[in-house]
Order: sequence, then structure tokens, then C-alpha cells
Amino acid sequence: MDEARVLRVYLLSIGSEVLRGELVDTNAAELARELTLRGAQVVGHRAVADQLEEVEAAFRDALARARWVVATGGLGPTLDDLTREGLARAVGRKLRTDPQAAQALRDRYLREGRPMPQETLRQAQVVEGADLLPNEEGTAPGMRLALADGRQVFLLPGPPREMRAMAERELYPQAEREAGKAVVVRTLRVTGVGESLVDEILADLMGDTNPVLRPYAQEVEVRLTLVSSHPDPDKAKEKAQAVVAEVARRLGPALYSLDGRSLEETVVEALEERHLTLATAESLTAGLVSARLAQVPGASRVLVGGAVVYHERVKEDLLGVPLALQGQAGVVSREVAAAMAQGARERLGADYAVALTGWAGPDHPPQEPAGLVYVAVADAHGVRVARRQFTGPRNHVRLLASQTALDLVRRTVLGLPFPVTGDPREALGSAPEVAR
Ligand code: ATP
Repeated sequence: MDEARVLRVYLLSIGSEVLRGELVDTNAAELARELTLRGAQVVGHRAVADQLEEVEAAFRDALARARWVVATGGLGPTLDDLTREGLARAVGRKLRTDPQAAQALRDRYLREGRPMPQETLRQAQVVEGADLLPNEEGTAPGMRLALADGRQVFLLPGPPREMRAMAERELYPQAEREAGKAVVVRTLRVTGVGESLVDEILADLMGDTNPVLRPYAQEVEVRLTLVSSHPDPDKAKEKAQAVVAEVARRLGPALYSLDGRSLEETVVEALEERHLTLATAESLTAGLVSARLAQVPGASRVLVGGAVVYHERVKEDLLGVPLALQGQAGVVSREVAAAMAQGARERLGADYAVALTGWAGPDHPPQEPAGLVYVAVADAHGVRVARRQFTGPRNHVRLLASQTALDLVRRTVLGLPFPVTGDPREALGSAPEVAR
């Protein structure tokens, strides 16, 4: 790519709160990510104290290093909001009060029936030659200053919601135009395989800079972001498609989403397309599996119902799991999980049922570890049971259990390999199919 055309961007996070560690600088992370996706190159990022000399120096330095400088924060009405003044000094221009912006502030206070503090008018100040950017989510307007040599400065508000809305309206579309590239972004989602193994499997693909493939470990799964850019939109799409196909080949059934859709959505869609239904029987997750499915519009068409069954008597009464079996095999056992799933399928009248039993922890019987979970899926052909040994705090184990249950339902409905152990090779589909 033509180096002269690269849109170099420098980010400034203005506010002593960031330097003192009281505030996590999410604005810079978000701006960096979004600008990168649009083909810009973020060449620097600095947190700046609320002191005039610091703000002025930061703008000077940043303008020497990049074509665009994007600053957030310090646009409020108080005396320590120094972004406008610091920029004016750095570029050697005056601040003037914009009459329209001043009137808009007065009107706003009038509408709200509040007296306007005099300092508020600071927010209507604008560096000579700059444009104000309306702030529909808050009071402090932003600013865009275009210098004669093509460099530009954007001032955005600090509150993330206001920053985001303004960036989406004013900054990103222009970045796309100036970076001169079409950008294709794909989100892929993987479950049942940890981040380090995903890294290992995709290592050579992750070395490429275009398309860029990056894994992000989420709480119970791995998300992959793929960004492909090219001046020709069709080429950008083509290059992305080739990488997606290769990732899909290597990760097999562990790659459950090619378009960012969640596991819950994938399960609901798989059932709905086939006009099939599901019932749940949950012990350690107490409804988490059905609650996750219920987040998806249309879930009521596939989820017939579910039972939360802790007590042995309730497992017998609601699902017909004999007390004797629970006594012999233990409540956390392959046999009880299977009987729960079969009972739920018959009694609730569904095509599939998924059942969970396990020790969420920290309490557990002496001979059985915390985090031991059995998940069973019953269908018209019978029942299959998977065993997992999770680690971590109680609610993490519960979330992992619900993730496994949803994944096993997905695999059963789609006819994919059913990993009976937590061995990732099984999740990837490279282990031999285990007979029922
Ligand atoms: P306001 O009109 O609200 O004063 P402002 O542009 O002056 O807006 P600041 O006063 O610097 O912004 O910050 C306001 C709030 O915005 C902070 O208390 C913080 O919650 C949030 N904020 C500021 N900067 C950042 C940042 N870099 N990342 C995340 N949040 C931020």
C-alpha cells in the first residue's frame, strides 16, 4: 500500500483520572480498534493530565507524528476542562464563542427549567477555523479542526456513550473515506477448545497482516476477529472468505458461528429450521440453559419447557428418575443424567431433552471433585452422556456447564460428533466417534 496514503492517527486521552489509574481508558481502546478496522494506522496513544501546558504539549507532539489527532475528554464546563484551550495554544489560534452553540446551551437549560452556570458557556468556545460537532447524547459539543496542510484534530467528549455516538457519526465514516480501503470484518466463534490450542492450530494464519486474524478469549469460548481490507470491496471479501474457509477446515465442529451469532441463537435456529423442540432438566445450572435460550427471539417455538430439579424426590416426581437409581449411582452420575434427560423428553414431550447434574462447588462429597458435571442429551434414538471436569468458582462452573449443554444440543441436532470427554481433540472432531 502507498505509504503516503496511510492514515496515521494519534490518540490523546485527556484527564488526570486516567493517569491516576482511577479510570480505565476504554475510549482509547475502542477508538484504536474501530479506526484500525477502517484501515487507519494508530501510531501513538497518550494519557494527558488536566494541565494546560501538558495538554498543549501533547497536541503539539501528536500533530508532529500523525495526520489525525483524536482527543477525548476535557470538554466539560469546568476550569479543569482544558482541551479546547490546549489545542488553541498548540496551533496558535484564538478561542471564540460560537453564538449558535451558546444559544443552544441557553435553550437547553431553559427547557430543563434550570439556571445556567456562567462556566457552561465555555462549552460553546471553538478554536478559530474549527467546526463544532453536535453532541446529541450530552451537553459538550465536539470539534473538528482541519489545518491547511491536511492534518485534522477531532475533539470528542469523555463519556463513552457520547464519544461513541459522535465517533460513529463524524469520525469513522471520514476515516473510511480517507484510508481509501474497503474493510470486511468477520466474527467467528469457537467452543470446546481453549484459546491456546486455537492459537496453535491457527498460528500461521495469525502471522498475516492482511487479512488480520485475532483470537479473543471470552469467559467460556474463543472469539476470532478477521479483518480484511483492500481498495476493491470484492477483493476484500474474497480474501476474508478464503481465510474463513481455512479456519473452518481446521477447527471443524468446534467452530459454531461464522457470523458472530451466539451459541443460543445457533441452537434455536438449528431446531427451528427443522421444526424440532427441546426440553431441559437442570440441576446445578437451575434454569441457566433455558434462560440463555430464552434470550433469543423465537425461543418459545422450540423450547417446550424445563424442570429445575435439585432434590432427589423432585427428580423422581417430575422426571421419573427412580430414588433407587439415585441412591446406587449417586445424584451426580452418568446414569442419573441419562435418566433425567429421558424423563424430561418423555414427560415434557419434546424431540430432544438436555439434562445436567454436577457439583458446582465449592462443596462436594469427599470422593468426588467440585466441577464434575454430567450432561446428557436424549433424542428419539436414545441418550448420550458427556462428562466434564471443570475448574474455577461456582458460577464459572455453572456457565461452562450451560455452554457444554448448548453445544451438545447443537451437535446432536446437526449430526456432528458428540464429545463425551473434555478432550479438545474430540471437540475438533478428530477423535473417533464414540459408539452410543
Ligand atoms: P463532560 O461534559 O461530561 O464533563 P468531558 O468531555 O469533559 O465531558 P471528562 O470530564 O474528561 O469528559 O470525563 C467525563 C467522564 O467520561 C469521566 O468521568 C469518565 O467517566 C468518562 N471518561 C473520560 N475519559 C475517558 C476515557 N478515556 N475512557 C473511558 N471513559 C472516559
